[in-house]
Amino acid sequence: MRSCRRLFLRCLRLGHRRKCRFLSRFLDHLRYARLCVVSLAYNSFTNSDVIIDSLFEPIYWLVDHLTRWFGIVFVALVILLTSSIVLIVYICVLPLIMQTYSTGWICWHVGYGHWNLIMIVFHYYKAITTSPGYPPQNNLDIPSVSVCRKCISPKPARTHHCSICTKCILKMDHHCPWLNNCVGHYNHRYFFSFCLFMTMGCIYCSISSRVMFREAYTAIEKMKHQEKEMLRLAVNETYNDTPPPSFTFQERAFHKCIIYLWVLCSSVAVALGALTLWHAMLITRGETSIERHINKKERKRLQASGKAFHNPYSYGRCQNWRIFFGVEIDQHWITRVVLPSSHPPDGDGLTWSAPSWIQTPQKSVLSI
Ligand SMILES: [Zn+2]
Ligand SMILES: [Zn+2]
Repeated sequence: MRSCRRLFLRCLRLGHRRKCRFLSRFLDHLRYARLCVVSLAYNSFTNSDVIIDSLFEPIYWLVDHLTRWFGIVFVALVILLTSSIVLIVYICVLPLIMQTYSTGWICWHVGYGHWNLIMIVFHYYKAITTSPGYPPQNNLDIPSVSVCRKCISPKPARTHHCSICTKCILKMDHHCPWLNNCVGHYNHRYFFSFCLFMTMGCIYCSISSRVMFREAYTAIEKMKHQEKEMLRLAVNETYNDTPPPSFTFQERAFHKCIIYLWVLCSSVAVALGALTLWHAMLITRGETSIERHINKKERKRLQASGKAFHNPYSYGRCQNWRIFFGVEIDQHWITRVVLPSSHPPDGDGLTWSAPSWIQTPQKSVLSI
């Protein structure tokens, strides 16, 4: 009996030893596999941001491709909607103005309306066809502050990489799907002017057609009421006895066009007006949309250590606007801002002159 018990215990110990050996071997293999994976994927620049970016890479890819393709649709939509509004103004609003208004008001509407239309068309055409500006390719001898990780080429100050255009853009502001183009150094003015004149045009159309809109709205309500009455009558009476509609097809189309014009213009005026004001604020501060976020972070960081942040690309509120519009002499406010102008922007977008508050230009200051 005792010998049997000893044999059983010995077997148990042997089984336990084998299990331990198998487990330790398995763990060794696991450690080796982990070491292989880590050594193959090792990158001294890897940090939490890179890992998060890598995880979100498929979503970025999808958004970038969709934006690239939808850009064409958005441009077509802008042209289509603007053309429809212009057509309605020419067919419905302008003849009414000519019939009812005095000569002075007719001159104002015809003059202002056409000037605004020319400014919108000119700036939109220039904004979509003008290249935003790229750093010179195959030239490593350009003033740069860093290297683009995507293009593997020198990146000048204020230049950023656009993942939709897959290029580095000089003084990049943002990629605009409504232009299907990036907004950068060479077309920033065209983009802002388009937003400004489009907002002005929408406000003008909304104000000019506000009385017509009220009348059209009342007429449409009346129309709906009449249609209900007619349906009620049609049920009770024969087809021949049904009274003819008091509104003709032309009248119905006219009222609906006026409502479409007013609703679209008012909505665009509010949305685009807010965007234009935002960009006007950025121009006053001498910042781009991207720099706004960078400078905000920098301002907080310096504030924590009791220091003040100064934007190295701000030359003073008024001067920022003059530089933005390319106003060198006072007449340029008329010839370059109020009238269509194709003049190039100030500078080449590669280097930036230091503002007067920087007594001794420091390279590090201009390295955003
Ligand atoms: Zn790049
Ligand atoms: Zn872009």
